[in-house]
Amino acid sequence: MKSGTESGVKILALSGGVGGAKLALGLARVLPPGALTVVANTADDFEHLGLYIAPDLDTVMYTLAGINDTERGWGLAGESWQCLDALNRLGAERWFQLGDRDLATHIRRSALLREGQNLSAVTAQLCRALDVTVDLLPMSDDPVRTLVDCEEGELPFQHYFVREQCRPRVRGFRFAGQEQARAQPAFLAMLTDPELTAVIICPSNPFVSVDPILGLPGVREALVASPAPVYAVSPIIGDRALKGPAAKMMAELGLPVSAASVAAHYRGLVDTFVMDESDATLAATINEPGMQIMMAPTVMKSLEDRERLAQQLLDRLQDCRP
Ligand code: GDP
Ligand code: CA
Repeated sequence: MKSGTESGVKILALSGGVGGAKLALGLARVLPPGALTVVANTADDFEHLGLYIAPDLDTVMYTLAGINDTERGWGLAGESWQCLDALNRLGAERWFQLGDRDLATHIRRSALLREGQNLSAVTAQLCRALDVTVDLLPMSDDPVRTLVDCEEGELPFQHYFVREQCRPRVRGFRFAGQEQARAQPAFLAMLTDPELTAVIICPSNPFVSVDPILGLPGVREALVASPAPVYAVSPIIGDRALKGPAAKMMAELGLPVSAASVAAHYRGLVDTFVMDESDATLAATINEPGMQIMMAPTVMKSLEDRERLAQQLLDRLQDCRP
C-alpha cells in the first residue's frame, strides 16, 4: 500500500483517552502508513509522586502500541502493583493507580522533561521505543490544566475524576493556561494545510477531553477556515455514555442527555456528525445548520468494530470528495 504521504491522505484525529483511542486504533489499522496524526488532550496531565503523568497521551500510546489493558479499560496489560504498594507503605498517597510497568513510562518521561526536552519530543521518543508508527502529538507543549467547578469549589481534574470518582456535581470547567498556551506546532500546521483530507473528532468527552484542544488559541478558527471536512463521532449513545462521566456532566449542566446535545456542542465546527445507528429516531430530529448526520454502528467492542467504523468514515470521505 502507498504510504500516507504518497497516497496524499492526511487525517487528523483529535482524542481524549479511552473512547478516542479506540477509534484512533481503528483509523491506524485501515489507513496507509503515514496518513494519520493523532492529537491528544493534555489538560488531564498532572504531577503525582514527583512524576509527570499524561493519562490521555498514554492511553492513546498504549492502545496504538497494542499493549493496553482492554479489560480494565486503562493502563497496561499484565500490570502488577508492587511499587505502588511499597510507596504506600512509605506513606505515599494511593488514590491514583499506577502499575509497575506504567510507572516506567512516567519515570522515563519525567526524566526526559527534566533534561529539557519538550512533551512533543518526549512523546515521539516513547512512541518510537514502543513501535508506535502513528504520529502522536500532545495538543500543546505548554501546560493547560482542567479545573472542575463544582459545589466544593474548583477541583483539579484528577481529584474530581479519580479521587472523588466524579461524585461532585459539576457547574462548569476552566482550562487554566489555555489562553497562553500554543497549540502544538505540527498540529497547527496540519490544520492550516490546504491538503488536509479531514479532521475527525473522536468519541471522547466533549467537555473535558475535546474542549481543551478546541479552545487552544487559533484552533477553532483554523478548523472553521479549513476546507477539510470536520467529522465528530458521538460519545453519547441513547441517554448514556459508554464509560465515564460525560452523561452525568451533561445532566448537571442542564443539558438533555443525548447525542443531540453533543451535536449542539459542536455547532458551527463540525460538518458531519456521526451518531450510533440505534439513535435513528433522535437523528431525524436534529437540525443543526451546516451539519450533516451520518449513522453508523459506533459501539467499539472488538478490533473489527474499531476498523469498521474507521473504514465507514473513510468511505464517506471518499464519496463526498469533489
Ligand atoms: P477518557 O479521557 O479516558 O475519559 O476518554 P475519552 O474522553 O476519550 O472518552 C470517554 C468517552 O468515550 C465517553 O463519553 C464514552 O461514552 C465514549 N466511548 C467509549 N467507548 C466508546 C465506543 O465504543 N463508542 C462510542 N461512540 N463512544 C465511546
Ligand atoms: Ca482523559
